Amino acid sequence: MNFKLSLVFSVVVSLSVLTSASEPKLKALIVDGQNNHGNWPQTTQMMKKYLQETELFNVDVATTKGSGTDESFKPDFKSYQVVVTNYNGAPWPEQTQKSFVSYLKNGGGLVVVHAANNSFGNWKEYNEIIGLGGWGGRNEKSGPYVYYNDQGKVVRDSSKGRGGHHGPQHPFAVVTRDAEHPITKGMPKSWLHEKDELYDYLRGPANNMKILATAYASKEKGGSGRHEPMLMTITYEKGRIFHTPMGHGNYSQECVGFIASLQRGAEWASTGKVTQKIPTDFPTLDKVSKRLFKK
Ligand code: ZN
Repeated sequence: MNFKLSLVFSVVVSLSVLTSASEPKLKALIVDGQNNHGNWPQTTQMMKKYLQETELFNVDVATTKGSGTDESFKPDFKSYQVVVTNYNGAPWPEQTQKSFVSYLKNGGGLVVVHAANNSFGNWKEYNEIIGLGGWGGRNEKSGPYVYYNDQGKVVRDSSKGRGGHHGPQHPFAVVTRDAEHPITKGMPKSWLHEKDELYDYLRGPANNMKILATAYASKEKGGSGRHEPMLMTITYEKGRIFHTPMGHGNYSQECVGFIASLQRGAEWASTGKVTQKIPTDFPTLDKVSKRLFKK
């Protein structure tokens, strides 16, 4: 290579390095490995692909051993902008719990999906972080039931009883309650979510929690007869948390409403902003919209 050519070459190389370096991707980590939902390996792959499709994220996965506390499970949470939890299992090692809490206190992001809110019923900080949870021994000591009444008011109900329940799976309407939040901005007032478990009777500290959307758990469908929180945000010191109780089956996670909520929620948890457009195939009130998952 003569001098001129090599100069051109190095300029082109440095330019391309500069361009890619000017917009570094956000780093996301999905944690999984134990779950009473046997489809967790597939839902992890689905969520990984959904995040990658935004072109905003590089995605890693950290998986625990299949049962019991995995003493070797020590992800470096602080090197990520967002952690997505698809984990419902044995306690993490104490050191890992501490580093997770400190990651969030210092401004980390978290996305909680479906049965991840069943995890760690006795871990105080985790329950503060996720706002509301179910099962895992949760009861009135975990915090109030939180829901919307028919008049559109948020109710915090401290009556006794278990946390977490659902009737048989069915498609249901998700109602936007906060149309100005970056995650829900531009979503329809109501949209039909594909067949899923409609979690009701969730309870927890629910501090610094915003309910962005609810779904009516009708008694005819075996539900609570309340408008249950479906999309939530929580702030935990400097940390931002997005929580969706949806996502039971692979079909539930093929719903474009689920996909877009996850993508937008993950971006908001990472940066506090959402730059993505609402997809044109977003469900409407009358019609479920799905994207069949292909690897
Ligand atoms: Zn489920």
